[in-house]
Amino acid sequence: MYPSESYPNTAYILSLIGGIFIILAGIFLSVVGAVFTLFLGGAGAIAGLLGIVWGVIILVAAFNLRSNPSQHVTWGVIILVFSLISWWGAAGGFFIGFLLALIGGIFAIIWSPPRQKAPQAYAAAPTPQTTRYCTNCGRSIPFDVNYCPYCGKELA
Ligand SMILES: [Zn+2]
Repeated sequence: MYPSESYPNTAYILSLIGGIFIILAGIFLSVVGAVFTLFLGGAGAIAGLLGIVWGVIILVAAFNLRSNPSQHVTWGVIILVFSLISWWGAAGGFFIGFLLALIGGIFAIIWSPPRQKAPQAYAAAPTPQTTRYCTNCGRSIPFDVNYCPYCGKELA
């Protein structure tokens, strides 16, 4: 189960590291792609550059997740989707980036705020009876007396 946290810290950390790996993979692939396509003006760098963009999006989503935990589903889905997209352009952040961001995204989605303190049980209980009425004279009398203080009738 997801650890109980006041904000989705585990999801944030995993997504952050995953996003960094994806950016690094994107940088690496863009350099390699550029080198191998020098005769085309380095056009091969484009895929890797996209990988960098995916990583940056994951980082932004991770930061938003941390600052707006109530939107954890939205940012979790974005992290999840871009961890999958990272296979295109960033080789899944050498797999580790994909894996961390994927788990981070899932953790972000399933995170839930700490349970609110339950209302105190006795607040809903019926108010105990504190007064009663004499069966003989009808006056209001204390609950714990055996005889009516007004007319003296013995009470059950
Ligand atoms: Zn009485």
